[in-house]
Amino acid sequence: MKTQKTLSVVIPVYNEVDNLPLLFDALHAALNPLPHPWEVIFVDDGSQDGSCEVLQRLAAQDAGHVRVVILRRNFGQTAAIAAGIDYAQGDILVLLDADLQNDPADIPLLLEKLDEGYDAVSGWRKERKDAFLTRTLPSRIANSLISWVTGVHLHDYGCTLKAYRREVLGGFRLYGEMHRFIPVYAYAAGAKITEMPVRHHPRRYGKTKYGLERTLKVILDLLTVRFLLSYFHKPIYLFGGTGVGLMLISAATILFLMIRRIAFGISPFTSPFFQMSAMFFILGFQSILMGLIAEMLVRTYYESQRKPTYRVRETLNVPPSDDDRP
Ligand code: UDP
Ligand code: MG
Repeated sequence: MKTQKTLSVVIPVYNEVDNLPLLFDALHAALNPLPHPWEVIFVDDGSQDGSCEVLQRLAAQDAGHVRVVILRRNFGQTAAIAAGIDYAQGDILVLLDADLQNDPADIPLLLEKLDEGYDAVSGWRKERKDAFLTRTLPSRIANSLISWVTGVHLHDYGCTLKAYRREVLGGFRLYGEMHRFIPVYAYAAGAKITEMPVRHHPRRYGKTKYGLERTLKVILDLLTVRFLLSYFHKPIYLFGGTGVGLMLISAATILFLMIRRIAFGISPFTSPFFQMSAMFFILGFQSILMGLIAEMLVRTYYESQRKPTYRVRETLNVPPSDDDRP
């Protein structure tokens, strides 16, 4: 018999006291009609406005659905989401903001989309209700940049409302502003991803925790993600490639100086090109050495924690095993 998949809704909460009761009602309205057993994991990210007390009340009132993870201080939205994912027990995870800008009524639609055979469905705030200059415009630029650099083409990385099958969520850690890159990690784990327009409402209570400065962090994180995706397994390709490139420039410069010496009798040693050539050589050599050190780090990482270097989508006729085979 096929048992119903269970659903976990993960919600980071930072100073959302007035939104929580409304959110709780909206979740019940959206999820009770579904056939799936569901839970909601509220992660209180060090709120100081009484959100935590409201969450404790909701947990007491509806112990069947409400789980609360309370963090010791404000760790940021990404950390709160990571904690929620770690505590979620469902087969399907839906991430959602607590401020009712995302609409819980969209969750059933995301699930329908998953049922079409996707591993992840990304919400897209097609008609976004945030300040244009400081939020919507930078976010558009960041989204195109992320799509281009990662090769995962989505319109709205920043939208928290997204649904995932549990299998594609394990095996990575989230730092900084990186929750928006979860789809990229999932894609790297072999997930089939699609996107879907979702509703977006203006904030009614409380205020946004972010401004323009976040875009810079996102772009720096993007560099890390790109490195992790393309070179984490073989850092020597990046460092060694750069190093060899620099040494080739160095060799070309020396060759130029030698030809000039032979043809025109100009001494190579008085030319700034000579110093440049030496510098490129040293940089190149160092870069290769750094690549080798990075290789050692990666090996330590995988071997000390027995991290899988591959992910299996499915196996046939393989009996389950007790050891932690990926
Ligand atoms: N949030 C959090 N920790 C923080 C900042 C935000 O858990 O340090 C939560 C916040 O309560 C909300 C979600 O992350 O549920 C998104 O925050 P916000 O609405 O301020 O972001 P925006 O929608 O303006 O991008
Ligand atoms: Mg918001």
